[in-house]
Order: sequence, then C-alpha cells, then structure tokens
Amino acid sequence: MSLCYQCGKCSAGCPVRYYMDIAPNKVVRLIQLGYYEEALKSETPWLCAGCLTCSVRCPKEFDLAKFMDAVREIAIEKGVEVKQENILKFHKAFLDQIKNHGRSYEVGLVAEYKMKTLDLFQDVDSAPGMFLKGKLDLLPHNIKNRKEIKSIFKKTSGKK
Ligand code: SF4
Ligand code: SF4
Repeated sequence: MSLCYQCGKCSAGCPVRYYMDIAPNKVVRLIQLGYYEEALKSETPWLCAGCLTCSVRCPKEFDLAKFMDAVREIAIEKGVEVKQENILKFHKAFLDQIKNHGRSYEVGLVAEYKMKTLDLFQDVDSAPGMFLKGKLDLLPHNIKNRKEIKSIFKKTSGKK
C-alpha cells in the first residue's frame, strides 16, 4: 500500500472512472489513512472492470486491479452491504464458473446471473449475434485439473 504516492495516473486512465463515486487512487488513499469502512462501502471496487489499465500505467508498479479485487472480497467477507446488487450477483456467478470449469463459461455465467437476478430478458437481443460470431459455446471447455482450482477456492474461503 505504501508504494502508492497518489499521482493519480491510474484514475486518469480508468475507462469507468466517470461512473465511480470515488476515484480508484482515492480508495487506496482511504485505506492508507485507515478509513477502511469508507473504502469498503465505496461503489468504485464494484464498478472496476478489471481491465488492468491502472496497473500498467502505475509508475510504482502498484497492482491496483488486484487491489480492487481484494477490496471486493474483503467487503463480502465483512458483510458490507453492496449497493450494486446486480454486480455482486454477476461477480458470484462469474466465480462459480471459474470454480466449476477452471475458466469462464459464458452460457453458464449468463444462465446463473439470470437465475439470480430474474431479469430474464436483459441483453437477450445480443445473444444471436454472439452465437453467430462463435463467442458463446453451448458446452463448457473445462480445464484438465479442475480439482486444483476447487482446492484453491476451498483454501481461500477458509473451508477445510
Ligand atoms: S498510478 Fe500508482 S502511484 Fe499513482 S495514484 Fe495510482 S496506484 Fe498510486
Ligand atoms: S482495472 Fe478497474 S480501476 Fe483499474 S483502470 Fe480498469 S476499471 Fe479502472
């Protein structure tokens, strides 16, 4: 955390900064100053798209994208209320795909997300185009050693 000297280069390049309540570098600053609750309650980590632009731009090589991921997980662990409810559902659905298949499986992700949100028709018109362009596979492509991935999830969730 002490690597960050608040130059703001990360936030200047962030493609979703406009939608965030606090600039990404300010979330780092809040934690540096001990304002954990404010940082965990911020919508910024939930709107972060994990694009890595900030991590690549940082002159101090601080991995802000990874930091945002950590903030999200800590917020969940601490039971902080997430204002962006659907993003939390998407986050969980995405992680379930990784846990089950070892990689992202878009059809499974969409199905689980829709079950969680019950918003069955959101973006439904983009599905045919994605199928035609080969962006959606009906069956998952599982990695070879899924057991290892599952054991990582088990270890990091604290379950034995
Ligand atoms: S670019 Fe790096 S050093 Fe600068 S504010 Fe962002 S995280 Fe901190
Ligand atoms: S990883 Fe997140 S915080 Fe960093 S530039 Fe991308 S969207 Fe912004």
